Amino acid sequence: MTPEERRAELSESLAAVRERLAKACHAAGRSPEEVELLAVTKTFPASDVALLSDLGLSSFAENREQEARGKVAEFAELRPQAARRWHMVGQLQRNKARAVARWADVVESVDSERLAEALSRATTNALETGERERPLDVLVQVSLDGTTGRGGCSPEDVHRLADMITRTSGLRLRGVMAVAPLGGDAAVSFDTLSSIFERLRVDHPEAVDVSAGMSGDLESAVAHGSTRVRVGTALLGGRRLTSP
Ligand SMILES: *Cc1c(COP(=O)(O)O)cnc(C)c1O
Repeated sequence: MTPEERRAELSESLAAVRERLAKACHAAGRSPEEVELLAVTKTFPASDVALLSDLGLSSFAENREQEARGKVAEFAELRPQAARRWHMVGQLQRNKARAVARWADVVESVDSERLAEALSRATTNALETGERERPLDVLVQVSLDGTTGRGGCSPEDVHRLADMITRTSGLRLRGVMAVAPLGGDAAVSFDTLSSIFERLRVDHPEAVDVSAGMSGDLESAVAHGSTRVRVGTALLGGRRLTSP
């Protein structure tokens, strides 16, 4: 496929996703400006990020530190002037905190105090050395399937983790994130997430973001108050099975 053909393909899928979002917002009585479209570019090349950027997107997400690191650098060379915010949405080992703090604007997958501590140290360090200019925005990832195997803390632990993040230097609490459990009813999960978010906001009004909804369930997420949908497949096409 030529770059022109790829551009046309991405332009078409972006228009379709925007249309779905507009309809979902309309159905929910919400303004489309309330919901950010985050392009999940994992497994796709930096050239696709550049095309999406040309088409007007500026929020991109990756789920593996090593893959992201190279892509972020490559995109910076391809489009040095373009607005961009990079989100880490995948499960993160503490030993990757230093590396992530060099490229991520947002980490959406914070699910333990130990990880938050490691990110705080790494961010503080990166701020001191000039490797980053701003604190790290973080979301507490919540597990909604009763286990924590696929990432996310249990709903009972959200408050404690959020309190801890608020007290920790280098980090800014911005909200919550969740992935609807496989095989479950997405609407029920997003409703649960929405209640967790509302409870959190009583003590943490600075938490404003609910990152929920992917290619298959973004309408349901928008209906339940999502402020950010994370869309991969519907924008970029199918992935090989190497990535979850
Ligand atoms: C891959 C991924 C997405 C995007 O999923 P699609 O179904 O391809 O839209 C969203 N969130 C997370 C955490 C992911 O890993």
